[in-house]
Amino acid sequence: MKTDSREKLLADVDAYCQELRPIEELCYVEHRYNRETVELAKKHNLLGMPVPVQYGGRGADAVTYARALARIGREGTGVRTFFSGQTSIGQYPIMRFGNEDQHRRYLPASARGEIILAFGLTEPDAGSNPLEMTTTYRRDGDRFLLNGVKYLISNGGIADAVVAFGYPEGRSGKDRRMSAFIVDTRGATFEAEDLHAKPGMFTANTGMFQMTDHPVPAENLLSEEGNGFRVAMGTLVSGRLSVASGCLGVIEDCLAEALTYAKTRVQHGKEIAKHQLIQEHLAEIEMDRAGSDALVQRAAEAKAASDAAPGDARLAAEADFLVAEAKFFASNAAWDAADRAVQVFGGRGWSELYRVGRHLQDVRVCRIYEGTDEIMKLKIASALLGKEFAAFH
Ligand SMILES: Cc1cc2nc3c(=O)[nH]c(=O)nc-3n(C[C@H](O)[C@H](O)[C@H](O)COP(=O)(O)OP(=O)(O)OC[C@H]3O[C@@H](n4cnc5c(N)ncnc54)[C@H](O)[C@@H]3O)c2cc1C
Repeated sequence: MKTDSREKLLADVDAYCQELRPIEELCYVEHRYNRETVELAKKHNLLGMPVPVQYGGRGADAVTYARALARIGREGTGVRTFFSGQTSIGQYPIMRFGNEDQHRRYLPASARGEIILAFGLTEPDAGSNPLEMTTTYRRDGDRFLLNGVKYLISNGGIADAVVAFGYPEGRSGKDRRMSAFIVDTRGATFEAEDLHAKPGMFTANTGMFQMTDHPVPAENLLSEEGNGFRVAMGTLVSGRLSVASGCLGVIEDCLAEALTYAKTRVQHGKEIAKHQLIQEHLAEIEMDRAGSDALVQRAAEAKAASDAAPGDARLAAEADFLVAEAKFFASNAAWDAADRAVQVFGGRGWSELYRVGRHLQDVRVCRIYEGTDEIMKLKIASALLGKEFAAFH
């Protein structure tokens, strides 16, 4: 991406964040979905950041997009999660695995915000192991009919189209390979529901949906039939980089907030920043930030190299590994940073009225979604050991 386009994009992201901040804070304390996340993103033209310019996006490479998501992450994990659903795991599989017709039908409209996207892999009985999913499809003339439930889906209650996965009905053994579809959510055969019982991310939508003989036109098969697992795994690399980048933003915000507060709050006759145990928290948050920054940058560069050579298996494996490391490290570092920042704030920190308290509530999920801590560790270890030592198949 050219330097001036990159700087313009990051300036637009910053303007978006500043405009969104007071609305986001109000929605958060009132525990309600923030519509302005989408509306202001339309205004600032941010709904297709890595989408190629020819399809109405901004053409951001993975490094630039990671920087944008880090800035957005400062405004809250809920806001950044919306962008994950729309772009990192919504537009990305269409960009990477879709054909020209699918590009034309879904990318410009989603970049304009006329189509909200989501990614539906997880099911009630299939999380860490998506191969255990029970969603099925069958061919019916020039369409497929899908049946199944997808659970815990970011943007799942507001999406106009979902990249969803299922197995062919009635097949077993080696013939039973999942496929990916771009599923339009219109019609009575697609029933979505918002999930509200969550301890954070109140301003973002998390949903579930059920498909009952839901028709999907044959031309909405994404990639080849049977290639769904590859689509899903390729997409999760993009999603994990989004999580890691957002977590970097959370840490940056926690550091800024903790530094300001520690310099102004006075106890025992001096600013708390002059107490050495408070300085320890600040130093630890800074090390969380520096480590995450380095790993996110390295992972984003690897992802950019892999994106530029989609057929290169070595570059894909390298990106997969480095992104898993960045995702694990940054999400744990962000949890630590938010916890320490709350400690610096004392009683005020343990409150949704303060940014650090909101970060603490929201960021915990980053150690779970897009692959849990445990799955990231197994992935990292098996990359070191070789496939024959994989903990599960
Ligand atoms: C807010 C939110 C948004 C989400 N958004 C999306 C989305 O947009 N799209 C989507 O498809 N999914 C989404 N998810 C689902 C998410 O990806 C899953 O929750 C996650 O992958 C874990 O699956 P699970 O919850 O079923 O846990 P499980 O897989 O049941 O895991 C439970 C525990 O067992 C551990 N475990 C499982 N297998 C192993 C193993 N082999 N070795 C060691 N430990 C193991 C796990 O690490 C975890 O600690 C979202 C989840 C949340 C909470």
